[in-house]
Amino acid sequence: MPIVRVALPVPLPQVFDYLASDASAEDVGRCVKVPFGRGERNGLIVAVASEADVEVARLKPVHHIQRDVPPLPGDWLALVSFVSRYYHAPLGEVVALALPPGLRRADGVSGDDADPLLALGAAGSEALRAARRPSKALALLQALAQDTPPWRRSAVREREGGEAVGDLLRRGWLVEAAIGDLRRDATGPQPELTAEQGEAVNAILDAGPGFRAWLLHGVTGSGKTEVYLRLAANALAQGKQVLMLVPEIALTPQLERRVAQRFAAANVVSLHSGLADGARSRGFVQALSGHADIVLGTRLAVFAPLPRLGLILVDEEHDASYKQQEGVRYSARDVAVWRARQGDVPVVLGSATPSLETWYHARNDRYALQVLNQRAVAATMPAVRCIDVRRLKLDEGLSPGLKAAIEQRLARGEQSLVFLNRRGYAPVLSCPSCGWVSRCPHCSANLVVHLVDRRLRCHHCGCDGGIPHACPSCGNQDIQPFGRGTQRIEARLAELFPQARVLRVDRDAARTRKQWESLLATIADGGADILVGTQMMAKGHDFPKLTLVGVIGADASLHAADFRAPERLFQQLMQVGGRAGRGTLPGEVLIQTEYPAHPLYLHLARHDFDAFARMELAERRSAGFPPFTYQAMLRADAPALDDAVEFLRHARRLAEERAPEGLRIYDPVPMRMTRLARRERAQLLLEADQRGVLQGFLADWVALLYRQRTARELRWQLDVDPLEV
Ligand code: ADP
Ligand code: ZN
Ligand code: ZN
Repeated sequence: MPIVRVALPVPLPQVFDYLASDASAEDVGRCVKVPFGRGERNGLIVAVASEADVEVARLKPVHHIQRDVPPLPGDWLALVSFVSRYYHAPLGEVVALALPPGLRRADGVSGDDADPLLALGAAGSEALRAARRPSKALALLQALAQDTPPWRRSAVREREGGEAVGDLLRRGWLVEAAIGDLRRDATGPQPELTAEQGEAVNAILDAGPGFRAWLLHGVTGSGKTEVYLRLAANALAQGKQVLMLVPEIALTPQLERRVAQRFAAANVVSLHSGLADGARSRGFVQALSGHADIVLGTRLAVFAPLPRLGLILVDEEHDASYKQQEGVRYSARDVAVWRARQGDVPVVLGSATPSLETWYHARNDRYALQVLNQRAVAATMPAVRCIDVRRLKLDEGLSPGLKAAIEQRLARGEQSLVFLNRRGYAPVLSCPSCGWVSRCPHCSANLVVHLVDRRLRCHHCGCDGGIPHACPSCGNQDIQPFGRGTQRIEARLAELFPQARVLRVDRDAARTRKQWESLLATIADGGADILVGTQMMAKGHDFPKLTLVGVIGADASLHAADFRAPERLFQQLMQVGGRAGRGTLPGEVLIQTEYPAHPLYLHLARHDFDAFARMELAERRSAGFPPFTYQAMLRADAPALDDAVEFLRHARRLAEERAPEGLRIYDPVPMRMTRLARRERAQLLLEADQRGVLQGFLADWVALLYRQRTARELRWQLDVDPLEV
């Protein structure tokens, strides 16, 4: 009887054999339900064999093989195997991560036409013209009409529950649109490329269809998206599929719309973790069957099977969200590059602030480089200036210069953004009389004051409670929020500028995608004068009336212990500064600092990313940090710190016994934030100057670690190429 080898999502570095009477080689790559322990698991068949590794009599039969969808092809299996090997994660866990949950459970997957494109019907145009009684349906139609058609039904649904869409279709206000109609409706011709854009597009196209990794280093507002769209158009015209990765779900709606408008005739599929199971499975199957032309998504989209793959685009390639920080700690950007090589197609990594790894590769000719130095629309880059706050009296953190600049923008009817990467009202509540501070009971972190809903909340474990009226330690009634977060700045700005509409944009204000879209719409419509925002505001957005960005509280990152902190700060400030003056109005960036002569700020003021990168890389070279070395971090956590450290010491001994030449093994140390959600955490760093040395060692060592008995409740994970050390 045939035997199937199944990758299961269990923390063991092996595959499992089962009997399957009707299995054949055709079933490799299919999802399967199997008995496991006392329960049932979903896995993937990675091989069909005639002989088992163990006694056949002990094997159990599979429960069900999912044959409703095509099996995952060989190149996809090679992709997940690579990720499993490189990140030293069990194959079954990589598969579980890469496959949509619905598909893995072998849920039924409905056909391809389940998410049709919709356009305005004649009755809909009529309804918009006629002065009707306001209704839910009409409100939805009016909201839709703000954007250019077509709209995917799933996207319409997301705006308004679900019932209203059916209602609109029944009334004929919306109609299913044929591709041909949409082409006619699609917004005007594509813009003429700027000279720099044209050069970049030509260079990348001229290099041909084979593998090549490109860095598209274009300043904020230089029109990188237009370059992506032209390259995508070329691939589509040749009947190829395009994979387009974006860092965050929050960025997808805008881009989706742009892509759908440009390629009305193409089937654009989005894949991200915010989708319902059904929609995610459907998108995945469309990619797999070759019916999707463009797959647009966040990091997990890098696992979409693409039989006709012709091009990979990675927007904002520096963004930390490409790296998964739990479970299988893969970098979607790095996997994308591997995948491009495997598929022999070009990959374009785009950014205004590339990661130093990528920038370094581009300088060393491992990646080809295209530079966009000019903004596409705006004449100039924003003027960046430091406000030296050392001798200034600040008003709730705001300097007179920044206040005056905001005032000026208000008078001109332009928008300002105050950027502060700290949400909440104040980072801690404290008692001036006894020194009590609001600590999280479960983490080595403070509880943040949230005045809007009157809570003390931990930003790490999420626990929260009410704000006490008196000091829990000494009873003093005069306890005070210490320091500043977005809510506090928002409150002060509202007092200072009562005539202005102040809008806070952070994760508390935009909890859902819908809230986020509505905030974006308010800003874009000019419904806000002063924005107070965190890094959410730093990414990818284009607000033509935004001409001033004020940065407060940035100095804290100048002296952080993490060697990547300056890189992150520079990227963040350059990105957020890049929101200013993107339209026809000139922009200004004001940075409040006590270190106005710090080289990081000087390079920033000159928009000189390359000078910053050279400086930073010189430091990393002399200190022996990546990209000049390769790192892996073994982390362990347990209720007691001793258990975590003891495990790492043991792991270290095992490592020392078999360490190859050139491998450096450091001492186990508690993590900087030692306690998180009642667990104590420690880490062990391994390093080598050659990737091969590190990788060769890790394979054996990790296999050994899996065989160790560990303290109860101890967990460990390996992080290859860690972003946080
Ligand atoms: P980036 O991603 O490089 O920061 P975007 O792609 O968002 O920049 O482009 C910035 C702005 O310039 C957008 O409003 C875009 O529509 C516009 N734009 C880009 N290329 C052109 C072009 N060739 N002609 C006119 N406008 C353009
Ligand atoms: Zn007290
Ligand atoms: Zn906590």
